[in-house]
Amino acid sequence: MIYRAEEVRERFARRGLAFDPTVEEIVRGILEAVREEGDAALNRLSLDLDGHPVEEIPKRAWREAYEDLDPDLRDALETAKERIEAFYREEARGGFLRAEEGGVLGQLVRPLARVGVYVPGGSAPLLSTLLMTVVPAKVAGVREVIVASPPRVHPGILAAAWVAGADRLFAMGGAQAIAALAYGTGRVPRVDKIVGPGNAYVVAAKRLVYGVVGLDGLAGPTETLIVADGSASPRLLAADLLAQAEHGPDSEPWLLSPDLPLLERVEAELYRQLQDLPRAEIAKKALERGGLVLTRDLEEALELANLYAPEHLCLALADPLPWLGRVENAGGVFLGEGSPEALGDYIAGPSHVMPTSGTARFQGGVAVRDFLKVIPVVGLSEGAARELAKKGALLARAEGLEGHARSLDLRR
Ligand code: NAD
Repeated sequence: MIYRAEEVRERFARRGLAFDPTVEEIVRGILEAVREEGDAALNRLSLDLDGHPVEEIPKRAWREAYEDLDPDLRDALETAKERIEAFYREEARGGFLRAEEGGVLGQLVRPLARVGVYVPGGSAPLLSTLLMTVVPAKVAGVREVIVASPPRVHPGILAAAWVAGADRLFAMGGAQAIAALAYGTGRVPRVDKIVGPGNAYVVAAKRLVYGVVGLDGLAGPTETLIVADGSASPRLLAADLLAQAEHGPDSEPWLLSPDLPLLERVEAELYRQLQDLPRAEIAKKALERGGLVLTRDLEEALELANLYAPEHLCLALADPLPWLGRVENAGGVFLGEGSPEALGDYIAGPSHVMPTSGTARFQGGVAVRDFLKVIPVVGLSEGAARELAKKGALLARAEGLEGHARSLDLRR
């Protein structure tokens, strides 16, 4: 289905995360039970929902899983880990302290002490998600990274925990895992922040515990928007759209181009490549949620892309670099046909945990800064304090806060 730009503009502009009240009701009950009863409720819920009690899996088992892994897969895991680590080492994470009139002003930057990472495990063992969250946390200097993943944890996840350098791993999933990390139980320690994607129960639980713990954000269904010109290969474009579409029936693959013959060739390619795709049924549903869009020119395609604020923005253009300056809203940008989003999912370097559902309008993906906090430092000299106190007291009295004003008057 090829849309015209006007047909999608309104829909792109109104995007946001949707919440299911029924799921939220169930999740409220789960959170309450774990908060009140701790480990007893955690185990009961885990048995009911996942058929298995919660257990901590010791590091020895991670190492064994790593050693049992196919050597090529082990090598791929190591390479991915090294590339993610190298990418995040570049990120600035220093504070500053500057002298000011005999005193100092500055910022301390400190890593969070303990972080919980949720690694989904219901329908697919997302070992890549473990690397993409644990590695930046460790680069930031987080002392203890605790992984939660649904019971019968896949050996690939254990091996990834070993490679990434996680600290502890509990086999627990869903809203009960989020509750345990947020409130702490006797067995599971309380964390300062929870990061990582998950299904509707996990996301609803994260939303409801915000404030008790910090969050990286709330992940909705994944999405890709490709902007292409006539130089792009219909075969590669179709393959990239299908790679996105096979994630789930609620994924959204979009292709925007001013080149109608290109869009028509991609449409034909999609039907052809769907024939033998193992997850074709899922991909077909996702393709109905996204689509191909004919734009007036590339400027309009970029304008619509910014309106949509995609998790993944792919610029399949002959010369993509000059267009980078036009990008305002995106979780991640992938330049040219040599940088498909599927590489970003696994091994390019940046974390694949990126904002979805239009939340790229106000936040970026998981990075080192997610695991740091900034603490301002004020150390004024007596002289500087005396000088600022009069104006400070004026501002305090304008707010009706006499106690503040008197505290400042004493410094004058
Ligand atoms: P999951 O680990 O998120 O959820 C499984 C858990 O859900 C189970 O442990 C169970 O406790 C709980 N659950 C299932 N049915 C329930 C019910 N009826 N009531 C209460 N709890 C219930 O794994 P999943 O289900 O495979 O979902 C993974 C999700 O993560 C997918 O939606 C995927 O799209 C998303 N994801 C997103 C990104 C991203 O970056 N946006 C990346 C990876 C995965």
